[in-house]
Amino acid sequence: MKFDTLLKTQRKIIKLFHNSLRKKRLVHIYLFEGAKGTPKLEAAYYFAAMMLCRETEKPCLRCRDCLRVQKEIHPSVFLVRPETGTIRKQQIETLEREFSLTALSEDARIFIIEDIEKATLTAANSLLKFTEELDGDKFGIMLTENVNQVLPTIRSRAQIVSFEKLPPEVVAEELISKGVEEETSRVLSKLTNSVEECMELIGEGKILDLIELARKVGLSLAGGNGAPLLTFYEEGKFLLEDSDRRSHRLFLDLLIMLANDELAYILGDEEGILFINTIPKIAPYLQVDYETKLREVEKLLNYKNRLNYNVNLELFYADLLIEIAR
Ligand SMILES: [Zn+2]
Repeated sequence: MKFDTLLKTQRKIIKLFHNSLRKKRLVHIYLFEGAKGTPKLEAAYYFAAMMLCRETEKPCLRCRDCLRVQKEIHPSVFLVRPETGTIRKQQIETLEREFSLTALSEDARIFIIEDIEKATLTAANSLLKFTEELDGDKFGIMLTENVNQVLPTIRSRAQIVSFEKLPPEVVAEELISKGVEEETSRVLSKLTNSVEECMELIGEGKILDLIELARKVGLSLAGGNGAPLLTFYEEGKFLLEDSDRRSHRLFLDLLIMLANDELAYILGDEEGILFINTIPKIAPYLQVDYETKLREVEKLLNYKNRLNYNVNLELFYADLLIEIAR
Protein backbone atom coordinates (compact mmCIF):
# COMPACT_ATOMS: atom_id res chain seq x y z
CA MET A 1 0.00 0.00 0.00
CA LYS A 2 1.57 3.23 -1.15
CA PHE A 3 0.42 6.61 0.09
CA ASP A 4 1.84 8.79 -2.73
CA THR A 5 -1.45 9.58 -4.47
CA LEU A 6 -3.21 10.11 -1.16
CA LEU A 7 -0.62 12.56 0.15
CA LYS A 8 -0.50 14.39 -3.17
CA THR A 9 -4.22 14.75 -3.79
CA GLN A 10 -6.07 14.67 -0.44
CA ARG A 11 -4.24 17.15 1.75
CA LYS A 12 -7.45 18.27 3.48
CA ILE A 13 -8.17 14.75 4.63
CA ILE A 14 -4.65 14.17 5.91
CA LYS A 15 -4.96 17.44 7.81
CA LEU A 16 -8.31 16.38 9.22
CA PHE A 17 -6.80 13.13 10.52
CA HIS A 18 -3.87 14.88 12.15
CA ASN A 19 -6.00 17.61 13.70
CA SER A 20 -8.52 15.12 15.02
CA LEU A 21 -5.78 13.03 16.57
CA ARG A 22 -4.08 16.03 18.12
CA LYS A 23 -7.30 17.50 19.49
CA LYS A 24 -8.57 14.06 20.54
CA ARG A 25 -11.62 14.46 18.34
CA LEU A 26 -11.47 11.13 16.61
CA VAL A 27 -14.78 9.36 16.14
CA HIS A 28 -15.18 5.59 16.04
CA ILE A 29 -16.94 5.29 12.71
CA TYR A 30 -15.89 6.96 9.51
CA LEU A 31 -17.55 6.80 6.12
CA PHE A 32 -15.16 7.64 3.30
CA GLU A 33 -17.03 8.63 0.16
CA GLY A 34 -15.55 9.52 -3.19
CA ALA A 35 -15.60 8.69 -6.89
CA LYS A 36 -14.02 5.56 -8.27
CA GLY A 37 -10.26 5.95 -8.27
CA THR A 38 -10.01 8.26 -5.27
CA PRO A 39 -7.54 6.85 -2.72
CA LYS A 40 -10.08 5.83 -0.05
CA LEU A 41 -8.50 2.51 0.82
CA GLU A 42 -5.07 4.14 0.99
CA ALA A 43 -6.53 6.70 3.39
CA ALA A 44 -8.01 3.96 5.56
CA TYR A 45 -4.61 2.26 5.82
CA TYR A 46 -2.94 5.60 6.47
CA PHE A 47 -5.39 6.18 9.31
CA ALA A 48 -4.63 2.71 10.66
CA ALA A 49 -0.88 3.42 10.51
CA MET A 50 -1.49 6.63 12.43
CA MET A 51 -3.29 4.74 15.18
CA LEU A 52 -0.74 1.94 15.40
CA CYS A 53 2.52 3.84 14.94
CA ARG A 54 4.68 4.01 18.05
CA GLU A 55 6.69 7.08 17.12
CA THR A 56 5.75 10.63 18.09
CA GLU A 57 5.31 11.79 14.49
CA LYS A 58 2.50 9.51 13.43
CA PRO A 59 2.59 7.73 11.05
CA CYS A 60 6.37 7.57 10.71
CA LEU A 61 5.97 4.96 7.94
CA ARG A 62 9.22 3.37 9.09
CA CYS A 63 8.50 1.58 12.36
CA ARG A 64 7.54 -2.08 12.50
CA ASP A 65 3.84 -1.31 12.89
CA CYS A 66 3.76 1.23 10.06
CA LEU A 67 5.53 -1.21 7.77
CA ARG A 68 3.16 -4.03 8.64
CA VAL A 69 0.18 -1.78 7.93
CA GLN A 70 1.65 -0.80 4.58
CA LYS A 71 2.22 -4.44 3.72
CA GLU A 72 -1.42 -5.08 4.67
CA ILE A 73 -0.37 -7.75 7.17
CA HIS A 74 -0.91 -5.96 10.47
CA PRO A 75 -2.91 -8.26 12.80
CA SER A 76 -4.86 -5.29 14.19
CA VAL A 77 -6.18 -4.15 10.82
CA PHE A 78 -9.14 -6.03 9.39
CA LEU A 79 -10.38 -5.69 5.83
CA VAL A 80 -13.79 -6.81 4.60
CA ARG A 81 -14.72 -6.74 0.91
CA PRO A 82 -17.86 -7.83 -0.92
CA GLU A 83 -17.81 -11.48 -1.88
CA THR A 84 -19.65 -12.22 -5.11
CA GLY A 85 -21.17 -8.76 -5.13
CA THR A 86 -22.50 -8.47 -1.58
CA ILE A 87 -21.30 -8.14 1.97
CA ARG A 88 -23.13 -10.84 3.90
CA LYS A 89 -24.10 -11.10 7.53
CA GLN A 90 -21.69 -13.97 8.03
CA GLN A 91 -18.76 -11.78 6.96
CA ILE A 92 -19.70 -9.18 9.58
CA GLU A 93 -20.04 -11.88 12.24
CA THR A 94 -16.60 -13.25 11.39
CA LEU A 95 -15.18 -9.75 11.56
CA GLU A 96 -16.84 -9.14 14.90
CA ARG A 97 -15.46 -12.39 16.33
CA GLU A 98 -11.89 -11.74 15.17
CA PHE A 99 -12.08 -8.12 16.18
CA SER A 100 -13.21 -8.89 19.71
CA LEU A 101 -10.66 -11.61 20.40
CA THR A 102 -8.58 -10.05 23.07
CA ALA A 103 -5.40 -9.19 21.28
CA LEU A 104 -2.13 -9.99 23.00
CA SER A 105 -1.16 -6.37 22.76
CA GLU A 106 -3.00 -3.24 23.76
CA ASP A 107 -2.94 -2.13 20.15
CA ALA A 108 -5.58 -0.01 18.56
CA ARG A 109 -7.82 -2.02 16.26
CA ILE A 110 -9.22 -0.85 12.96
CA PHE A 111 -11.61 -2.53 10.58
CA ILE A 112 -12.13 -1.37 7.03
CA ILE A 113 -15.15 -2.28 4.90
CA GLU A 114 -15.01 -1.66 1.18
CA ASP A 115 -18.16 -0.88 -0.82
CA ILE A 116 -20.34 -0.68 2.27
CA GLU A 117 -23.40 0.04 0.09
CA LYS A 118 -23.21 -3.62 -0.93
CA ALA A 119 -24.02 -4.85 2.57
CA THR A 120 -27.26 -6.80 2.78
CA LEU A 121 -29.84 -5.48 5.20
CA THR A 122 -29.07 -8.18 7.78
CA ALA A 123 -25.34 -7.55 7.42
CA ALA A 124 -25.91 -3.84 7.93
CA ASN A 125 -28.00 -4.54 11.03
CA SER A 126 -25.32 -6.71 12.62
CA LEU A 127 -22.77 -4.09 11.74
CA LEU A 128 -24.81 -1.37 13.44
CA LYS A 129 -25.04 -3.36 16.64
CA PHE A 130 -21.34 -4.08 16.50
CA THR A 131 -20.35 -0.45 15.89
CA GLU A 132 -22.34 0.67 18.94
CA GLU A 133 -19.89 -1.25 21.05
CA LEU A 134 -16.77 0.36 19.64
CA ASP A 135 -14.87 2.31 22.24
CA GLY A 136 -11.35 3.31 23.16
CA ASP A 137 -8.90 2.66 20.36
CA LYS A 138 -11.31 0.76 18.16
CA PHE A 139 -12.27 2.23 14.83
CA GLY A 140 -14.35 1.29 11.83
CA ILE A 141 -13.85 2.82 8.41
CA MET A 142 -16.37 2.22 5.67
CA LEU A 143 -15.76 3.09 2.05
CA THR A 144 -18.22 3.89 -0.71
CA GLU A 145 -18.42 5.37 -4.19
CA ASN A 146 -22.12 6.07 -3.76
CA VAL A 147 -22.92 7.67 -0.45
CA ASN A 148 -26.60 7.88 -1.40
CA GLN A 149 -26.84 4.11 -1.58
CA VAL A 150 -25.54 3.68 1.96
CA LEU A 151 -28.28 2.96 4.50
CA PRO A 152 -29.26 6.13 6.39
CA THR A 153 -28.80 4.31 9.70
CA ILE A 154 -25.15 3.73 8.83
CA ARG A 155 -24.67 7.20 7.37
CA SER A 156 -26.07 8.90 10.44
CA ARG A 157 -23.72 7.08 12.74
CA ALA A 158 -20.54 7.89 10.86
CA GLN A 159 -18.45 10.93 10.26
CA ILE A 160 -18.54 11.37 6.49
CA VAL A 161 -15.22 12.20 4.86
CA SER A 162 -15.49 13.29 1.22
CA PHE A 163 -12.67 12.67 -1.23
CA GLU A 164 -11.80 15.08 -4.01
CA LYS A 165 -11.58 13.78 -7.53
CA LEU A 166 -8.07 13.28 -8.81
CA PRO A 167 -6.74 16.07 -11.03
CA PRO A 168 -6.05 14.94 -14.64
CA GLU A 169 -2.27 15.45 -14.26
CA VAL A 170 -2.19 12.93 -11.43
CA VAL A 171 -4.29 10.44 -13.39
CA ALA A 172 -2.00 10.87 -16.43
CA GLU A 173 1.12 10.39 -14.32
CA GLU A 174 -0.25 7.19 -12.84
CA LEU A 175 -1.20 5.84 -16.26
CA ILE A 176 2.29 6.58 -17.55
CA SER A 177 3.78 4.75 -14.56
CA LYS A 178 1.62 1.77 -15.58
CA GLY A 179 3.21 1.75 -19.02
CA VAL A 180 0.53 3.64 -20.96
CA GLU A 181 1.98 5.84 -23.70
CA GLU A 182 2.13 9.53 -22.72
CA GLU A 183 -0.21 11.05 -25.31
CA THR A 184 -2.81 8.35 -24.65
CA SER A 185 -2.43 8.91 -20.89
CA ARG A 186 -3.02 12.62 -21.22
CA VAL A 187 -6.10 12.11 -23.39
CA LEU A 188 -7.57 9.44 -21.12
CA SER A 189 -7.00 11.55 -18.02
CA LYS A 190 -9.48 14.08 -19.43
CA LEU A 191 -12.13 11.46 -20.00
CA THR A 192 -12.29 10.11 -16.45
CA ASN A 193 -10.71 10.83 -13.05
CA SER A 194 -10.23 7.18 -12.33
CA VAL A 195 -7.02 5.34 -13.21
CA GLU A 196 -8.90 2.09 -12.74
CA GLU A 197 -11.57 3.11 -15.22
CA CYS A 198 -8.91 4.20 -17.73
CA MET A 199 -7.25 0.79 -17.48
CA GLU A 200 -10.64 -0.86 -17.97
CA LEU A 201 -11.26 1.26 -21.08
CA ILE A 202 -7.88 0.24 -22.45
CA GLY A 203 -8.64 -3.38 -21.62
CA GLU A 204 -11.88 -3.24 -23.60
CA GLY A 205 -9.80 -2.16 -26.59
CA LYS A 206 -12.16 0.30 -28.26
CA ILE A 207 -10.72 3.48 -26.80
CA LEU A 208 -7.27 3.07 -28.32
CA ASP A 209 -8.83 2.59 -31.78
CA LEU A 210 -10.96 5.70 -31.27
CA ILE A 211 -7.94 7.79 -30.26
CA GLU A 212 -6.02 6.54 -33.29
CA LEU A 213 -8.97 7.37 -35.56
CA ALA A 214 -9.23 10.86 -34.07
CA ARG A 215 -5.51 11.41 -34.77
CA LYS A 216 -5.87 10.39 -38.42
CA VAL A 217 -9.09 12.30 -39.04
CA GLY A 218 -7.64 15.34 -37.25
CA LEU A 219 -4.61 15.30 -39.52
CA SER A 220 -6.84 14.98 -42.61
CA LEU A 221 -9.06 17.81 -41.45
CA ALA A 222 -6.03 20.06 -41.15
CA GLY A 223 -5.12 19.12 -44.72
CA GLY A 224 -2.19 16.87 -44.02
CA ASN A 225 -3.43 13.43 -44.91
CA GLY A 226 -5.86 13.17 -47.84
CA ALA A 227 -9.57 13.91 -47.78
CA PRO A 228 -11.11 13.65 -44.31
CA LEU A 229 -14.14 11.74 -45.50
CA LEU A 230 -11.98 9.20 -47.27
CA THR A 231 -9.75 8.79 -44.22
CA PHE A 232 -12.84 8.28 -42.10
CA TYR A 233 -14.34 5.65 -44.40
CA GLU A 234 -11.05 3.79 -44.66
CA GLU A 235 -10.10 3.84 -40.99
CA GLY A 236 -13.41 4.26 -39.21
CA LYS A 237 -15.45 1.29 -40.44
CA PHE A 238 -15.45 -0.16 -36.94
CA LEU A 239 -17.06 2.99 -35.62
CA LEU A 240 -19.79 3.10 -38.26
CA GLU A 241 -20.68 -0.45 -37.33
CA ASP A 242 -20.78 0.38 -33.62
CA SER A 243 -24.37 0.84 -32.50
CA ASP A 244 -23.38 2.01 -29.02
CA ARG A 245 -23.98 5.75 -28.93
CA ARG A 246 -21.36 6.17 -26.23
CA SER A 247 -18.61 5.27 -28.71
CA HIS A 248 -19.75 8.06 -31.02
CA ARG A 249 -19.94 10.61 -28.22
CA LEU A 250 -16.48 9.54 -27.15
CA PHE A 251 -15.16 9.98 -30.68
CA LEU A 252 -16.66 13.47 -30.86
CA ASP A 253 -15.09 14.25 -27.48
CA LEU A 254 -11.74 13.21 -28.87
CA LEU A 255 -12.16 15.40 -31.96
CA ILE A 256 -13.14 18.30 -29.69
CA MET A 257 -10.06 17.72 -27.50
CA LEU A 258 -7.86 17.70 -30.57
CA ALA A 259 -9.44 20.88 -31.93
CA ASN A 260 -8.94 22.52 -28.52
CA ASP A 261 -5.29 21.48 -28.65
CA GLU A 262 -5.02 23.14 -32.06
CA LEU A 263 -6.56 26.27 -30.56
CA ALA A 264 -3.99 26.22 -27.77
CA TYR A 265 -1.24 25.75 -30.33
CA ILE A 266 -2.47 28.71 -32.39
CA LEU A 267 -2.46 30.79 -29.20
CA GLY A 268 1.05 29.63 -28.35
CA ASP A 269 -0.26 28.11 -25.13
CA GLU A 270 1.26 24.67 -25.53
CA GLU A 271 1.59 23.57 -21.94
CA GLY A 272 -1.80 21.96 -21.55
CA ILE A 273 -1.82 20.17 -24.90
CA LEU A 274 -3.07 16.59 -24.66
CA PHE A 275 -2.21 15.25 -28.11
CA ILE A 276 1.46 16.06 -27.62
CA ASN A 277 2.67 13.79 -30.42
CA THR A 278 -0.09 14.54 -32.90
CA ILE A 279 -0.09 18.34 -32.69
CA PRO A 280 3.50 18.67 -34.03
CA LYS A 281 2.38 16.57 -37.03
CA ILE A 282 -0.69 18.74 -37.62
CA ALA A 283 1.04 22.04 -36.90
CA PRO A 284 2.72 22.53 -40.32
CA TYR A 285 -0.74 22.42 -41.95
CA LEU A 286 -2.51 24.65 -39.47
CA GLN A 287 -3.17 27.77 -41.43
CA VAL A 288 -6.41 28.90 -39.91
CA ASP A 289 -6.75 31.73 -37.46
CA TYR A 290 -8.05 31.53 -33.93
CA GLU A 291 -11.60 32.59 -34.84
CA THR A 292 -11.99 29.92 -37.48
CA LYS A 293 -10.71 27.21 -35.16
CA LEU A 294 -12.99 28.39 -32.40
CA ARG A 295 -15.98 28.10 -34.76
CA GLU A 296 -14.83 24.60 -35.59
CA VAL A 297 -14.91 23.64 -31.91
CA GLU A 298 -18.42 25.10 -31.67
CA LYS A 299 -19.53 23.11 -34.69
CA LEU A 300 -18.15 19.93 -33.19
CA LEU A 301 -20.04 20.60 -29.96
CA ASN A 302 -23.24 21.05 -31.95
CA TYR A 303 -22.66 17.82 -33.78
CA LYS A 304 -22.08 16.05 -30.50
CA ASN A 305 -25.49 17.24 -29.32
CA ARG A 306 -27.11 15.85 -32.44
CA LEU A 307 -26.05 12.40 -31.28
CA ASN A 308 -28.77 12.65 -28.66
CA TYR A 309 -31.29 12.23 -31.46
CA ASN A 310 -31.79 9.39 -33.81
CA VAL A 311 -29.38 10.13 -36.63
CA ASN A 312 -28.20 8.08 -39.56
CA LEU A 313 -24.57 7.68 -38.61
CA GLU A 314 -23.20 7.52 -42.13
CA LEU A 315 -24.92 10.77 -43.08
CA PHE A 316 -23.99 12.29 -39.75
CA TYR A 317 -20.26 11.78 -40.24
CA ALA A 318 -20.33 12.75 -43.92
CA ASP A 319 -22.10 15.97 -43.01
CA LEU A 320 -19.78 16.69 -40.08
CA LEU A 321 -16.54 16.10 -41.94
CA ILE A 322 -17.56 18.13 -44.98
CA GLU A 323 -18.80 20.94 -42.80
CA ILE A 324 -15.62 21.08 -40.70
CA ALA A 325 -13.28 20.69 -43.65
CA ARG A 326 -14.93 23.66 -45.37
ZN1 LIG B 1 5.43 4.29 12.64
